Amino acid sequence: MGLLDGKVAFIFGIANHRSIAWGIAKQLHEHGATIALSIFNEDMRRRVEPLAEEIGCEFVEPCDVNQDDEVDAVFEKFKEKYGKLDILVHSIAFAPREALGGRFTDMKREDFKLTLESSAYSLVALAKRAEPLMDEGSSIMTMSYYAAEKYIPDYNAMAIAKSALESITRYLAVDMGPQGIRVNAISAGPIKTLAAAGIPGFRSLIKHFDAVSPLGETVSVDDVGKTAVYLASDLSRMVTGEIIYVDSGYQVLGITVPRDEM
Ligand code: NAD
Repeated sequence: MGLLDGKVAFIFGIANHRSIAWGIAKQLHEHGATIALSIFNEDMRRRVEPLAEEIGCEFVEPCDVNQDDEVDAVFEKFKEKYGKLDILVHSIAFAPREALGGRFTDMKREDFKLTLESSAYSLVALAKRAEPLMDEGSSIMTMSYYAAEKYIPDYNAMAIAKSALESITRYLAVDMGPQGIRVNAISAGPIKTLAAAGIPGFRSLIKHFDAVSPLGETVSVDDVGKTAVYLASDLSRMVTGEIIYVDSGYQVLGITVPRDEM
């Protein structure tokens, strides 16, 4: 018996085998869930379909989460095929290059709006369509980062988007609590993915992270996937509105001294 036997998961945000969404898809599948995937656009199909096959996924459909008609259409297709939804995974972020790095004060209104819309509002857009398909005990999860809470160099607009995303997580949790739907966020340590490649100085960030974090290891997409299994399953029955850290312990540190200098 798998922890997630009989459950259907709809996962948004898979670009390739490095994506956090892929780590989550693999782990949810391993524990018995049926997986449906949504990709940004058709260009991604070539890279994602072979991965989908590996986990017996028969649903790979495009959706730009900033287009309401596309979000409606993909949920309609999903509903036709599966009829119900138990697990919604939002693993999406986007910021124009100009909104990452440089002087924060120079932030452009349009870049700020696009970053917030793509990376934070998109959770509301997906959760709203998921809700009518969900029964008591269903789970919604999103991916955050420590820049939501503290200054991290170069995250700029994305830091603000992550703060908004964590707040949205709490508001959705309260809205959907009466229906028994849980809404949580995983705050992951830095992982080399396509999205992370857009952050200037990301390599030194990972190096620093490995040198100071209590567990002393870079987080993998599978590590995030394992916590996703907990959040998707009955094991987290009374957990909602939470930010769960999968970050090698980094966020407990008051000062970040490399372990070999302590
Ligand atoms: P990724 O590039 O693999 O995933 C980001 C996904 O967002 C891509 O699949 C991309 O196609 C999708 N996307 C962007 N705009 C979209 C839109 N308008 N419509 C539909 N899809 C869109 O990178 P990742 O690191 O796996 O990112 C997944 C999530 O994890 C993001 O929210 C990211 O901020 C978060 N996160 C990443 C790290 C890290 O270090 N990699 C750490 C903490 C949190």
